[in-house]
Amino acid sequence: MPTTSLPPSLTSLAGVTGRVVTPGDPSYDEIRAVFYGGIDKRPSAIIRVKNVDDVRRVIETARRDGYELAIRSGGHSVAGHSTTDGGLVIDLREMSKIDIDATTKTAWIETGATAVQVTQALAPHHLVIGFGDSGSVGVGGIALGGGIGFLVRKYGLTIDSVLAAEVVTADGRHLVVDESHEPDLFWAIRGGGGNFGVVTRLEFRLNSMPNFTGGILILPATPETIAGFSAASLSAPDELSTIGNVMPAPPLPFLPAEHHGKLVIFAFVAFAGDDGAAARVIEPFRKLATPLADLVKPGPYVAMYPPEDPNYKPTAVARTMFVDKIDIDAARTIHDYLSKSDATMRVAQLRALGGALARVPAEATAFAHRSKPMLVNVAAFYEGDADREKRSVWVKDFKHALQPNDDSAYVGFLTDDGRERIRATYPGATWGHLARVKATYDPTNLFRLNQNVTPAA
Ligand SMILES: Cc1cc2nc3c(=O)[nH]c(=O)nc-3n(C[C@H](O)[C@H](O)[C@H](O)COP(=O)(O)OP(=O)(O)OC[C@H]3O[C@@H](n4cnc5c(N)ncnc54)[C@H](O)[C@@H]3O)c2cc1C
Repeated sequence: MPTTSLPPSLTSLAGVTGRVVTPGDPSYDEIRAVFYGGIDKRPSAIIRVKNVDDVRRVIETARRDGYELAIRSGGHSVAGHSTTDGGLVIDLREMSKIDIDATTKTAWIETGATAVQVTQALAPHHLVIGFGDSGSVGVGGIALGGGIGFLVRKYGLTIDSVLAAEVVTADGRHLVVDESHEPDLFWAIRGGGGNFGVVTRLEFRLNSMPNFTGGILILPATPETIAGFSAASLSAPDELSTIGNVMPAPPLPFLPAEHHGKLVIFAFVAFAGDDGAAARVIEPFRKLATPLADLVKPGPYVAMYPPEDPNYKPTAVARTMFVDKIDIDAARTIHDYLSKSDATMRVAQLRALGGALARVPAEATAFAHRSKPMLVNVAAFYEGDADREKRSVWVKDFKHALQPNDDSAYVGFLTDDGRERIRATYPGATWGHLARVKATYDPTNLFRLNQNVTPAA
């Protein structure tokens, strides 16, 4: 229900059960904010939908009255797609119900839930779904784009655990889709992002994980340790997934002050297997150099998602890419770029892929980059518009220096990289297949605030 009276153009939203937040509402500024700072859009209304009927009503209003429509689950879109100037936002955060069936090891989860909420709910059952490295990312966004995280080599992408979905399409239909029902739509939403409708619930297969060892390992960053970290990550057994952030050391209490601001590998190490094997598998990383901090230990998986400050609003520019490996020359490039930048925070993030992700056939879902060995993100914080331009040039140059030949990308980390990169995100037959599904379910491209797949002619 609206908290302030609705303008005449939005009276069709009067029947919505959830809150309709418009510019006159005292909490409008708080509610329109998304994860990233520097995104300052003013929607005509943000609708905190509570059920499928609410979603349908907003879709109908947007379609009939020509409003631009944004969909928001966790608000972490790196391209700022989950808000709009003058349009409507379907905000799903109050649709966050988690129904676990521990016997069948399945769960129906509303897409407004966050990764940490789901991980916490599954913890007592020793069950997991692999999401990303941020607990506050929404299930909706990550599970439609792909989902590359701490368990990717053991259990695959987040989409690899999706069994079924409920989708409200542009014409207001509420569809339940799986391998046998509307299989093309089910294929497309696993990797094709928010192009095809509002996904309100997802059914997941849950993975048993009785033991876990993980945490933060900080090593000094030199070309040799960076290349060694990459090689060790790529050759580790599937149980081990790592995320290595080469960056200036933040002033953390557990890190001696003389290292603050110096380049380090700030790594997240996650071992989904027996405690005994963990030490053996992690040893090559500890041997790369004397760790500056080693917080890797057996414990609950949910500890990988520490509490976050909801008021933290970073302003950053980034580029993403796939590479085969980080050899010593690439490691020198990373070290040089990061050493020469004066951005308050800059990073090259290394993620080894392979394992369970690579065993799924490329054509099985809309995430086709199954054989790419490694994903790298480079990013820099900026302060103000002029600085943004300077840092944007730096991330583009850095990307080109590391990967001059291949523009393919993972959709979850794409920013405003342009149409060619969206195309390269969906290689081979994937693009044509997605465009045909789009033409069937969203022929007028109502859902276009995303890495957009245009409907086939
Ligand atoms: C700090 C940070 C860390 C990240 N780490 C990782 C990581 O480790 N691994 C990884 O794979 N990704 C990661 N990402 C990327 C992240 O997965 C994507 O940005 C994802 O889209 C965010 O989902 P969200 O629901 O929070 O975002 P939102 O901004 O709410 O949604 C993003 C887009 O997804 C679509 N969408 C969202 N919900 C729905 C829905 N219910 N129905 C239909 N469409 C929907 C819409 O197009 C929307 O614009 C990270 C992003 C950030 C900001």
